[in-house]
Amino acid sequence: MNDIVLLGSTGSIGTQTLDVCRAHNIRVRALSANSSTELLERQAREFRPEYVAIADDKYFNDIKARLADTDIKVLSGIDGLRELAALKCGRVVNAVVGMVGLLPTLSAIEAGNDVALANKETLVAGGKLVTDAVKRHGVRLLPIDSEHSAIFQCLMGAGENRFSKIILTASGGPFYGKTRGELANVAKEQALKHPNWIMGAKITIDSATLMNKGLELIEAVWLFGAEPEQIEIVVQRQSIIHSAVEFEDGAVIAQLGSVDMRMPIQLALTYPKRLPCPAKKLSLFDVGELTFGRADEETFTCLAAARKAIAMGGNAPCIVNCANEAAVSLFLHDEIKFLEIGETVNAALSEVHYTKDPSLDDILETQAAAENYVLGRRFR
Ligand code: MG
Repeated sequence: MNDIVLLGSTGSIGTQTLDVCRAHNIRVRALSANSSTELLERQAREFRPEYVAIADDKYFNDIKARLADTDIKVLSGIDGLRELAALKCGRVVNAVVGMVGLLPTLSAIEAGNDVALANKETLVAGGKLVTDAVKRHGVRLLPIDSEHSAIFQCLMGAGENRFSKIILTASGGPFYGKTRGELANVAKEQALKHPNWIMGAKITIDSATLMNKGLELIEAVWLFGAEPEQIEIVVQRQSIIHSAVEFEDGAVIAQLGSVDMRMPIQLALTYPKRLPCPAKKLSLFDVGELTFGRADEETFTCLAAARKAIAMGGNAPCIVNCANEAAVSLFLHDEIKFLEIGETVNAALSEVHYTKDPSLDDILETQAAAENYVLGRRFR
């Protein structure tokens, strides 16, 4: 079995990754968190990694003091995360939230590690850089996102056969079927209630705006070498069909399962092996019926922005991703309204400087430019 480095261990994906490690005695060589020192300490005492890192430097002294009686080495900041990602191990699980995951992903790949990727923002913002590095270093990217894990599984037996279409399913989020008028004044508490999945705040808001599906569309383009037009988004309200693939002959292969992230997480850790999983087994009798619908891109303009960005290519997906991160943060701090997230993202896409073939520096500059644009726009 692989040993792992786990970046983002205190979040929703991180804690579920540790459930899987517990179930299969997977050795955890390093853990990192952004700021949750109390939980990180508890995890460190249970899993006894060689290293922990805290992304936010402010908390370095706190975590260092908490682990003073152990021989665990404590690092901090983005350099700390990069150092952990570069430890020679079986797989690096990247479950950090947001663009901050990009550099550690690149460090992991350059060190020759496979990456189990839950951090979709890094592939969205740095898709070409990341996939080029993967090819150069001959490592594997194993998707953790349930949809991409599903697509990956649908292709596991495909051999040389290419797909003709990817059917990317979406739950539709808490506001499916609502009009712009109905969404004008929704409170953050309503947006934070996802019908099927319990997840972190950022991705839950992204699910409510459908930006999550937009990011996943871009992620699928890079992971599977798909053309954007080959990806069809289908609202599957029950989140039982996690995604599907259509082949040239019209055959559609879908992956179904209960709503439990431990299944895709575990496969990313144990691939190509399938092992018993702590997740509940699916009963189709309990599900009863499966429904399908279209996503409304006129109401959910974030999804339209993501589609436009991947068609533009270059740094456009990075602009959309970073503008969205900044806008979601403003929404969570009650500084802008729900519909303004989409307005902000679309405005950033037309205003922030476009580059066709961005380097890593260009991507990092784009990040700063998109954030500054969003913060500046708020005061106009
Ligand atoms: Mg997903």
